[in-house]
Amino acid sequence: MWVTTHVLAGLAIAAALGGPWWLVLVAVILAHVLMDLIPHWDYTRSRHGVIYGCCDFLAGLTLWLVAWLVLGMPFWLAFMGPVSGAPDWDVLFAELRGHPDVHWFPSHWKRFPHGRSGRLWGIGVQLVFMAASVAVVLAARPR
Ligand SMILES: [Zn+2]
Repeated sequence: MWVTTHVLAGLAIAAALGGPWWLVLVAVILAHVLMDLIPHWDYTRSRHGVIYGCCDFLAGLTLWLVAWLVLGMPFWLAFMGPVSGAPDWDVLFAELRGHPDVHWFPSHWKRFPHGRSGRLWGIGVQLVFMAASVAVVLAARPR
């Protein structure tokens, strides 16, 4: 899924669990793997994948800053948002290196059953994840 979707899900998990740090860390990384199983649409195979990727990373970074500085989540807890999206650096670096199929993170390996779908479902399912995550963050965030 998109970095933005992973960051929001990570923020929601962090807000809901609230700690301890090691449990939140394991949960957000595991969530990344599980979310990659769900059929979704990625921009990596589109014509402007690197441009979309850079925008996606910037949006993810912005969401972390908003959670920390605007919503008042503790720094370490809000940082679990970008941690949840961090495995996708693997995808961006692979694209930039010109080896889009060589990855280190398990849910990006070729043999992993990475969920793929058309745009309508693939974007829609991510929008649902994002909306649910925002609702959880707003309702459960510790300040
Ligand atoms: Zn991923």
